[in-house]
Amino acid sequence: MKVPALFVSHGAPDLALRETAWGAALREFAAGTPRPTAAVVVSAHWEAWGPVLVTSTKSPETIHDFAGFPAPLYEIEYPAPGEPALAARIVGLLRDAGIAAETDPRRGLDHGAWVPLRLLAPEADVPIVAVSLPQPRTPASVLAAGRALAPLRDEGILLFGSGGMVHNLRLLEWEERDAPPPGWAAEFEAWVRGRLGAGDTEALLGYREKAPHAPRAHPTTEHFDPIFFALGAADGDRARSVFEGFEMGSLSLGSVAFGR
Ligand code: ZN
Repeated sequence: MKVPALFVSHGAPDLALRETAWGAALREFAAGTPRPTAAVVVSAHWEAWGPVLVTSTKSPETIHDFAGFPAPLYEIEYPAPGEPALAARIVGLLRDAGIAAETDPRRGLDHGAWVPLRLLAPEADVPIVAVSLPQPRTPASVLAAGRALAPLRDEGILLFGSGGMVHNLRLLEWEERDAPPPGWAAEFEAWVRGRLGAGDTEALLGYREKAPHAPRAHPTTEHFDPIFFALGAADGDRARSVFEGFEMGSLSLGSVAFGR
């Protein structure tokens, strides 16, 4: 059965240790969606030069790719299986779309993948394949990768991007989790949500010139670009909000799904 495409703002790694409204919303999304046969994730935390890389290990390791967080966070394992046959198909679909791609038999799952996956598939029984963010890239090139994989949704495969709708670590209120979002962050996210709601892909692709405060919302692009993977995977399906909220001022947890 066809499943939605998804973009998740994964916030700070320690969200994995807390009960939050964001976590409840992701669980609710999963409960309202047919159980996926597999999931394909593009995370902000896996950028690679050269061809797009696709994990092909049978048992991807849980990567604790962060520093300075509480010890229990480093003990979390997310032991979902991989699916080498799906990885090979993804490489084929990307190549058919003119995108250079290769399997990567070593890479595991970074926290951009496993923090949301623990909520979306808590039993760790859904096979996971991760796809790298290409370097260099444009919003359009990431969108093209999502489009190339969109047919997999018809087989019940969840395609999701994991990043942040607003993400500027230098401007966070690190000591104040409940600080309200500053105006620039709220305005940028409202613009993105407005364009998503209108199905205005052209404007979104040009967000760096068109959106208010884009360079401040994203001094680097790796946390925003996974939204273009989801938008490509959406294949015209309209966006609906899964969660709206911020932590530490401007760290967006905004998450959206495309399609029913
Ligand atoms: Zn991140």
